[in-house]
Amino acid sequence: NSDLILYVNMELVNEKSYRRYIVEEILGQGTFGQVAKCRDVETDNYVAVKVIKNQPAFYQQSLTEVSLLSTLNRTFDPHDEHHIVRMLDFFACKNHLCISFEMLGQNLYELLRQNGLRGLQMKLVRSFSKQILDALIVTKGAGIIHCDLKPENILVTQNAKTDTEVKVIDFGSACMEGKTIYSYIQSRYYRSPEVILGYPYTTAIDMWSFGCIVAEMYIGIPLFLGASEYDVLRRMIEIVGVQPPDDLLREAKNTKKFFKHVGSIYPGNEGHDSIGSPYRMLTEEEVEARESQKPKVGRWYFPRRRLDSLISGYPWKNLEEGNLPETEKADCLALVDFLRGLIEFDPNK
Ligand code: ADP
Ligand code: MG
Repeated sequence: NSDLILYVNMELVNEKSYRRYIVEEILGQGTFGQVAKCRDVETDNYVAVKVIKNQPAFYQQSLTEVSLLSTLNRTFDPHDEHHIVRMLDFFACKNHLCISFEMLGQNLYELLRQNGLRGLQMKLVRSFSKQILDALIVTKGAGIIHCDLKPENILVTQNAKTDTEVKVIDFGSACMEGKTIYSYIQSRYYRSPEVILGYPYTTAIDMWSFGCIVAEMYIGIPLFLGASEYDVLRRMIEIVGVQPPDDLLREAKNTKKFFKHVGSIYPGNEGHDSIGSPYRMLTEEEVEARESQKPKVGRWYFPRRRLDSLISGYPWKNLEEGNLPETEKADCLALVDFLRGLIEFDPNK
């Protein structure tokens, strides 16, 4: 695409900057390309360079990443106090857009996996949550929706002042509130009900993902683990204990993928609090009958539990009534209370 090359040459190429880095190892791969640990020859510091795939769509979206992140860094977090990754530079190299960032540590998913997926200590859950929330207050204030909050996009790093710091990275899917373009966003386990159901979305979708991450930090595995959007939505309803509000279901574009319109006096859905709602979620059999053409995917089975029993009685947490120290019990109740505010179907709340 000659326009593209011209644009790169005229606006972006900064020979000095792209010659400074020596690639030492690959840190990660993602949808957008690869991230390499590089040494800055002039300063001898390490930086992380994201090398974007050289396709126009990725290039365009990555320019959005550059512009939103530089706005966040410069205007909304000038002193690097709010746990958002710092962008150092961007340049073109062999027709690839490259973005360099401060070098951070491993991602939260790697940390959870290292821990045998048993979850982190409450102390860390609290500290990390507070830091991520701090970042989200800033992004919300800037009118920016991250759109892909998940453990892989939270990096853990050792900091001289505080003990362990976390930072939010990867604004590669981010957009401005009120200028939302894409409907297929967020990673499935962290996808908000309004995105699944096809309802206009706001910065509130990041708050939903944040709730999912907080729960996962404590229990060690995704709260809404599901092999399909249907599974994820079903699990949300089980855990929250109610289905999404009727107003949302009425206006959302995808409601009929998941719900049957059954009139206004349906007697309730398997114990879910849908009494009086004109909508009933399709049963698994109904969905399977519809999708019998599609190949079957493996499913994870979970006992049905509500959030409080899930958090306070998760098997490997050994937190059964009785053997729970008073301090931990109070912490669990506080965590559930906190999560209830985040795992909320009504985006306005
Ligand atoms: P993508 O948009 O392709 O997901 P990311 O920006 O999320 O790209 O980077 C992919 C992975 O690379 C991350 O999950 C993380 O493990 C690693 N990574 C990204 N940025 C850094 C950084 N600044 N320091 C260390 N590792 C990083
Ligand atoms: Mg990522």
